[in-house]
Amino acid sequence: MNGLMMDMPLTITSIMNFANKVHGDQEVVSVTADNPLHRCTYRQLFSRARQLANALKSLGAEQGDCIATLAWNDHRHIELYYGISSSGMICHTINPRLFEEQLEYIINHAEDQWVFVDLMFVPLLEKLQDKLPGVKGFVVLTGESHMPNTNLRNAHCYETLIAAESDQFEFPELDENQASALCYTSGTTGNPKGVLYSHRSTVLHCYAAALPDVFNISVNDTMMPIVPMFHVNGWGNAYSCFMIGAKMVLPGPKMGDGETLCNLINREKVNKSAGVPTIWMALLQYLETSGESVPSLESLVVGGAACPVSIMKAFEEKHNVWMHNAWGMTEMSPLGTFNSLSTAQKQLPEEELDIIRQKAGRPIFGVDMKIVDANDKELPWDGESSGAVKVRGPWITNRYFKAEESNLDADGWFETGDVATIDSSSFMNITDRTKDVIKSGGEWISSIELENCAVDHPQVTEAAVVGISHPRWTERPLLLVIPQEPGSISAAEMLAWFDGKVASWWIPSDVVFVESLPHTATGKLSKKDIREEFKHHQWTE
Ligand code: ADP
Repeated sequence: MNGLMMDMPLTITSIMNFANKVHGDQEVVSVTADNPLHRCTYRQLFSRARQLANALKSLGAEQGDCIATLAWNDHRHIELYYGISSSGMICHTINPRLFEEQLEYIINHAEDQWVFVDLMFVPLLEKLQDKLPGVKGFVVLTGESHMPNTNLRNAHCYETLIAAESDQFEFPELDENQASALCYTSGTTGNPKGVLYSHRSTVLHCYAAALPDVFNISVNDTMMPIVPMFHVNGWGNAYSCFMIGAKMVLPGPKMGDGETLCNLINREKVNKSAGVPTIWMALLQYLETSGESVPSLESLVVGGAACPVSIMKAFEEKHNVWMHNAWGMTEMSPLGTFNSLSTAQKQLPEEELDIIRQKAGRPIFGVDMKIVDANDKELPWDGESSGAVKVRGPWITNRYFKAEESNLDADGWFETGDVATIDSSSFMNITDRTKDVIKSGGEWISSIELENCAVDHPQVTEAAVVGISHPRWTERPLLLVIPQEPGSISAAEMLAWFDGKVASWWIPSDVVFVESLPHTATGKLSKKDIREEFKHHQWTE
């Protein structure tokens, strides 16, 4: 027997309509490429989203079309998120930092019909446009006074385009399983793969993201999502904040600039924010050198890569800001686990607290998780057994865009490619990527744990650890370090730093000091490139 409840589809349109009706006066503050400070209300923003929906129709775009964005976090990008998806089209957010060949591949693979592009990426697309035959035209995200003299074919100015349209629009009734957005993962091998989100997966993820032990978003919050909206829907903030009615502050192209972030936090009284570790390092550095403070800021979410505990402690001790670690991936919309400590955990002695706060946290309701050994046998949650992380849930992909086959195992689980332990409090600790784990003498060594330990040394700016083949041990860890200043630390001092902090057989067998380390388009260390460069490293016995 079915329940006797209304069957209302879970759609992005419903988030928009609700936010417009219930929280219409709430503010969105943006830095854009053409305006250092733009302010509008939700109501004004959604009025423009309806003008955009009319404009898309005038351009001939239809339901099911992919419409691309190459844009920073600002109000126009949010208008695109809602205007495109609510029209039944697919909002394809593109990471402008991808290599040109990758951009060409994904725009053609997605069959993007129109590309909405921020001012600073116009030259990039001018160079690429001849290789993008399917794109009908380009819309530059600016007003007439900043419109560049461009040779982009069929180029429109965004403000002129929408100004010509009515702000009345009847959005179509959508099936909740209809595709809403598309994001490609950069991956380290092969072509990028498209993850196609649905309205339903987005709304469910949005509810989960707002929960108290997740992003904990309230109508009284001022949230500044720094994680780019081209990176897994900006971790869902552009949906969750509107569902709740929180004030939003969007740093546009200035997301990596500590001074702008600090000024925005203080002027707008930002109390919550989210971003990758490098952003927080930049802000912390700015606060140190300028002597500024951020009294309104209460908590930060950090994810996408492991965050050194020294950064977490510096924010807490110097600025009274608590950092929450979160783990997820493009294929998971992205949220999987979140580190929100219980009162009892917070009272643990400092050494134990340091260990637990670095973990990726507990699974969120909606994400079923397990760790398995090499034979796919489920491992216990004892904090010791380390295995491949598998997940399943309603906001996790089951097949890449246009792929012939499912990407799940025979039992319907998605293998994340991460290796982790899970402790008896259900806190997951990522120890490695499956392909980065170091296999030494039949045992596994966690490259991430060694990197975390290395960057806690005061003379270390950045560190990477990779497994390099070794005649006796199969592989041994090689440590690469960017020192604060050249020659500020010796190899022997560096290796001695690990004594007593990790198992003795984990201590890297050698260290090389370097000036820079390669990163992927999403800012992660490119271990593949490092392994390639150092594959012939000569071990000194
Ligand atoms: P891309 O694959 O495009 O680089 P993703 O955001 O999808 O970007 O990357 C997901 C991966 O990032 C995860 O599988 C994991 O390896 C890593 N990651 C994400 N969050 C964390 C975290 N909190 N700690 C350690 N690694 C993380």
